[in-house]
Amino acid sequence: MSRTPIIAGNWKMHGSLTFVKEMMSELATMLPAKINYDVAVFPVYIHLHEVINTKPEQVWCGAQNLSEYDDGAVTGEVSGKMLADLGCDMVLVGHSERRVKSRESNAEVAKKFAQALKYGLTPVLCVGESLVERQSNQTFAVVWAQIQAVLSLIGVEQLGHGVIAYEPVWAIGTGETATAEQAQEVHQFIRSQLAAKDVTMARQIRLLYGGSCKGSNAFELFSMPDVDGGLIGGASLTAEDFMAICREAKKLMNETQSS
Ligand code: PEP
Repeated sequence: MSRTPIIAGNWKMHGSLTFVKEMMSELATMLPAKINYDVAVFPVYIHLHEVINTKPEQVWCGAQNLSEYDDGAVTGEVSGKMLADLGCDMVLVGHSERRVKSRESNAEVAKKFAQALKYGLTPVLCVGESLVERQSNQTFAVVWAQIQAVLSLIGVEQLGHGVIAYEPVWAIGTGETATAEQAQEVHQFIRSQLAAKDVTMARQIRLLYGGSCKGSNAFELFSMPDVDGGLIGGASLTAEDFMAICREAKKLMNETQSS
């Protein structure tokens, strides 16, 4: 079964209103009206409104985080309800920078995933191991514990309404990319574990790779049978770099569709 790849740009804590306006106008010029892959961008909260109001129609907009609560006395947080009200389509949950710097636990991330679904947002569950964990052969255990927390809370059918991004922490922002084989090994592991619970869901769920993905390595990564696009940090910050990755997704889709 062929899954449509997603090219998702995580802008992290970068940009300004001028940056947003320029990026949206450049993407509007560079992106064809009809694309055979999906594109999303994830700006900081305060730039969401500008992106939503100026983005080309074929680009989805997502937040980088959401509260585990509906509303109330939670100073500084933003709820899924508010993101949906604003017009967001998606939201990242459990990015490793939040797991590490804000000490988000697997259980909290799972609650956020559930909140996103509650308000009709597509959650992108970020999972991945640190270098120490990889070196001590804990990759599968760490990644599965992160996914299992969501499964325990909402079950396999609900998990299937989201997207999973495998992002080895040692490859994020380091310039060191997992090899296509390393990415495939973990993606295949995730899909086969899910298939043991629900074959249809496992076939359909999109598994993105993230970690120093760029135009020069995107095709090789996206060609792997269980890699369905990428979550892109650094290379999503210029329209040129981001479009270079989008073009690789298009090339792959064109090849797949003509074969
Ligand atoms: C990310 O932060 O999700 C990411 C993949 O970053 P980078 O592409 O810069 O490694």
